[in-house]
Amino acid sequence: MTETETRSHRAGNDKVWFSDNCMISVKLSNLSDVHLLFCYHMMPDLNLMISHFHAYLWVILFLCLCLREQNDVYEWARDHRVHHKYSETDADPHNATRGFFFAHIGWLLVRKHPDVIEKGKKLELADLRADKVVMFQRRHYKLSVLILCFLVPTLVPWYFWGESLAVAYFVPGLLRYAVVLNATWLVNSAAHIWGNRPYDKTINPRENPMVAFSAIGEGFHNYHHTFPFDYATSEFGWKFNITTAFIDLMCFLGLAKDCKKVSKELIMARIQRTGDGSDKSG
Ligand SMILES: [Zn+2]
Ligand SMILES: [Zn+2]
Repeated sequence: MTETETRSHRAGNDKVWFSDNCMISVKLSNLSDVHLLFCYHMMPDLNLMISHFHAYLWVILFLCLCLREQNDVYEWARDHRVHHKYSETDADPHNATRGFFFAHIGWLLVRKHPDVIEKGKKLELADLRADKVVMFQRRHYKLSVLILCFLVPTLVPWYFWGESLAVAYFVPGLLRYAVVLNATWLVNSAAHIWGNRPYDKTINPRENPMVAFSAIGEGFHNYHHTFPFDYATSEFGWKFNITTAFIDLMCFLGLAKDCKKVSKELIMARIQRTGDGSDKSG
């Protein structure tokens, strides 16, 4: 290995109701975030983060993805590979040098820069095309999002504990969706603008504890861009990193294996060579 490389009844108790709906939303979202790590970070040009996981887990994570509607896996993975390869250039879909708003949500409101399309076409995506689940989701994406992102979060509270359809639609449906989207987008915006760069001060991605908390482990962004093949996206294990804990649990259960991790020696060498002196490595 070289260096380049997501019960109780309402019954007039708003507190219980609120926490129930929020907990369910948070748990579902946690799984979705884990999914982001599993599915979207498969980058053959940078080595696979995790080279094998069980088909059952793969399908479950795909269902979780549909809860949060962030484009299908094929399109997300293509954009993410371009993001890593051409970070902070016009070919980066959410180029943070164009400001916080563009990197956060603006890039989704305008047409893609021609460089994004051109460079995206040149990427190797054969692994995605060969994956039957990825292509099935791409073919049925709109229907799966309608069912899993909006109908299921609305109908489950209504059916199982008597929530009104309106509240079920607006809270676990729309509010959850908006909160989770913004928490994820902070990885593209805040974690590319504010924070320390202990591993590589020559790149923009930063270590941002607030984003690590909100995106349950994806805020160690200077580390992630420096060592994109590391499944943990951090050298600090489970600290602010539920996704890493989940992946470790899946490995323990035998549902995933061959997770790539950067050695301590390599991390320390990189810190010495290109870090900004703010490292907390022990
Ligand atoms: Zn990434
Ligand atoms: Zn990034």
